[in-house]
Amino acid sequence: MFTNERARHANEEIALERYLIETPHTAENCLALLEEVHAQGYLNNFDWGCRAGTHTGWVVIAAESEEQARMAVPPLVRARAHVTRLNKFDCGDVASLHPTGRGDAARSPTKRQREKTT
Ligand SMILES: [Zn+2]
Repeated sequence: MFTNERARHANEEIALERYLIETPHTAENCLALLEEVHAQGYLNNFDWGCRAGTHTGWVVIAAESEEQARMAVPPLVRARAHVTRLNKFDCGDVASLHPTGRGDAARSPTKRQREKTT
């Protein structure tokens, strides 16, 4: 169910990717940014670090391209925003990425040795 993260547009066969948008900003332009995001209607879609002293807003959106994703960023911080295309890894990916090709090989002998000696 979660292995295929690509969503399809209703009418056109355009694959949508998920993008993480990060909007670092200063305490000085925090309120102006919040007002801009509120005016766009996205205020509830963002998570914010502002009250913890990390003036950044985060949101994950679906878009056709990085350029399209960036257009969702409020103009005030668009130039400084980080837009990252996201992917998922599944169990097969983890095994194939492991240097030995066997993800659980390193732990098993140690456990077996411990069981023999006790
Ligand atoms: Zn802020």
